[in-house]
Amino acid sequence: MRPQIRQLAGLLVACFLIGSVHAKLNIFACEPEWAALTQELAGGHATVFAATHAGQDPHYVQARPSLIARLRSADLAVCTGAELETGWMPMLQRRARNPKVLAGKPGYFEATQQVTLLEKPAELDRAEGDVHGDGNPHIQVDPRRVLEVAMALSSRLQQLDPGNKPNYEQLLQDFTARWKASIERWQSAAAGLRGKRAVVHHREWIYLLDWLGMQRVGSLEPKPGIPPNMAHLADLKTQQADVIILSPANDKKPSAWLQEQTGTPVVMLPHTVGAVPNSDNLFDLFDEIIRRLSESART
Ligand SMILES: [Zn+2]
Repeated sequence: MRPQIRQLAGLLVACFLIGSVHAKLNIFACEPEWAALTQELAGGHATVFAATHAGQDPHYVQARPSLIARLRSADLAVCTGAELETGWMPMLQRRARNPKVLAGKPGYFEATQQVTLLEKPAELDRAEGDVHGDGNPHIQVDPRRVLEVAMALSSRLQQLDPGNKPNYEQLLQDFTARWKASIERWQSAAAGLRGKRAVVHHREWIYLLDWLGMQRVGSLEPKPGIPPNMAHLADLKTQQADVIILSPANDKKPSAWLQEQTGTPVVMLPHTVGAVPNSDNLFDLFDEIIRRLSESART
């Protein structure tokens, strides 16, 4: 190689190295809540893509080519796990051919691996259609668990992008302080809900009820993922619930029927960021959940 060319090549390598030092992490979040949390914790050091929006049911997502392309270029995938994405994420991982984001690699993060799960089944009969085979995956509606996920996720960001470690530590510290203060505020606003009895549509409110000290006295779905039927709904009439909870994605007819039969108020709660107006970040999401629930529950 002639000296000038060698110099030029050296310059190009240097530019490439500098470029990669400053490159933002490319993050693929399976659900909007984890996209929002990742954005809080990564600030301007990452580009975050949400694979699904609030109007989609994360149990059932189509493995579209656009999602495969996004996963192919990702440095990190942040998902719920506990089989929530079992119908689509493994297929995306196979087709994306990106070894960084395969299960077991640092570039694949599952939120449910970071917390204690409720409703782990002793045995599971898939023939009955249960979509919660690994325990209940809907942990994002308990802010205490969200904080545990945040700490683990920040560590993962620091591991993948060590050059920005102090920045991620600072972002986590800021988030934790604001989040803990908010939890206190939400808990005192919801103190009157303690002991209240709730019927849920899908069992996606278990962690919320657990956090607030409320009781789940029934589900409109006879089993997670199985649509409500008349015989099952009729059984629920005797449950004397204080509130019936559903999310915007659920069929509104079963809860409306039960309300008509029993007079129990129905409340629609956002199950993730963006599911209703004024829920566009994690703080607003819980503000809205607590506001709606407090206004609706029978006192
Ligand atoms: Zn579910």
